[in-house]
Amino acid sequence: HADTAMYRAKDTGKNNCQFYTREMNATIERKLHLLEGLRNAVDDGQFQLVYQPKVDLRSGHIFGVEALVRWAHPEYGLLGPDRFIPLAEESGMIFALGEWVLQTACRQNQLWQEAGLPPLRISVNVSPRQFEEQRLVQRVAQALEESGLAPEWLELEVTEGVIMRDLQQAVAKMGELRAMGISLSIDDFGTGYSSLSALKSFPISTLKIDKSFVRDLGSNAGDEAIASSIIGLAHQLRLRVIAEGVETEEQRAFLRHNGCDEMQGYLFSRPLAPEQLRQLLLRQMPASAGLGRLAPALA
Ligand code: C2E
Ligand code: MG
Ligand code: MG
Ligand code: MG
Repeated sequence: HADTAMYRAKDTGKNNCQFYTREMNATIERKLHLLEGLRNAVDDGQFQLVYQPKVDLRSGHIFGVEALVRWAHPEYGLLGPDRFIPLAEESGMIFALGEWVLQTACRQNQLWQEAGLPPLRISVNVSPRQFEEQRLVQRVAQALEESGLAPEWLELEVTEGVIMRDLQQAVAKMGELRAMGISLSIDDFGTGYSSLSALKSFPISTLKIDKSFVRDLGSNAGDEAIASSIIGLAHQLRLRVIAEGVETEEQRAFLRHNGCDEMQGYLFSRPLAPEQLRQLLLRQMPASAGLGRLAPALA
C-alpha cells in the first residue's frame, strides 16, 4: 500500500527515498491499471490499426503497408504499442491481441482489393511470444481463410532476437509459413544479435534496416557503413532490403545511391487511418483507372 511504503521510506531517514517510492508506486499502479484494462480492450473494440505505406525507393510507388496497432484507452487517450505490447506479452494478452491484429489487417486488405484498389502486401508485426506459440501457423491460416485474402498479400515481420532464441524451431516454423505462401521479413535488422551463417537458412524475402541506423545517414560515417553493409549483405543473399524511419531527402538520397530497394518513413507518409490510405492510393492511380473494379493491376 502506498501509505505504508511512504512511512517506511521516512523511517530510513533518507530524504529522497520518499520521493522515489511515491513515484515508483505511481508507475506500478499505472502499469497495473493498464494491465487490467488490456483484459477487455480487445472485446471492447479499443484497438485500432493504422497503416504506413512502404514505397519503392526509386519510383515512389506504394507496394505495401505495415499495420501498426494503437490503443484508444478510455482514460489515457491514444497509446502507442511501446506502452502496451510489453505488458501484453508479459500477461499473455498478446495472443488475443495478435489474433485481432492479424484478422483485422487481412480483412482490411481484402476490402481494399474488393474496392478495386491496386493490390498491396500488408505487413503484420509478430512479437516473441506470438511467434513461439504453437498455434501461430493455424491462426495465420484462419485469418487468411476468414478474410478471403490470398496469402501472397500477407507478410509477417519478426525480429532477429525472436528467431535466434530457438533457431531450429524458428526455421521450421518460418518454413511452414512460407509454404502457405506468405512472406517473411526481419524487422529492426542490425539491432539484435543474429548469426550471419543462420541468416542464409531463413526462408525470408526482406531485411528491414532499423531506423536507428537511418537517422544519421548523411552525417555519421559509422551508420553509413552499417546501412550500406546491410544493403550489400541482403543483395548477396538475394533478399530485398527496406529502410524504416526515413525522414529526410538526404537519407533517401544516401539509400538510393547505395542500392536500397524500398523505404518507409515520415518523408513519404506517416501511418494512416484506413480512409486516409484509400485516398492516397486513389491519388496514386492513373485517372482512367479511378473507377473501382475496372482498375488494372498496377503492380
Ligand atoms: P516497428 O515494427 O519497427 O515499427 C516502426 C516504428 O517506427 C513504428 O512505431 C512507426 O510508427 C515508427 N515510424 C515510422 N516511420 C517513422 C519515421 O520516419 N521516423 C520515426 N522516428 N519513426 C517512424 P510504432 O507504431 O510506435 O510501433 C512501435 C513498435 O511496436 C513496432 O516497431 C513493432 O515492433 C511494435 N508493434 C506495432 N504494432 C504491432 C502489432 O500489431 N503487434 C505487435 N506484436 N507489435 C507491434
Ligand atoms: Mg515492423
Ligand atoms: Mg522496425
Ligand atoms: Mg522497431
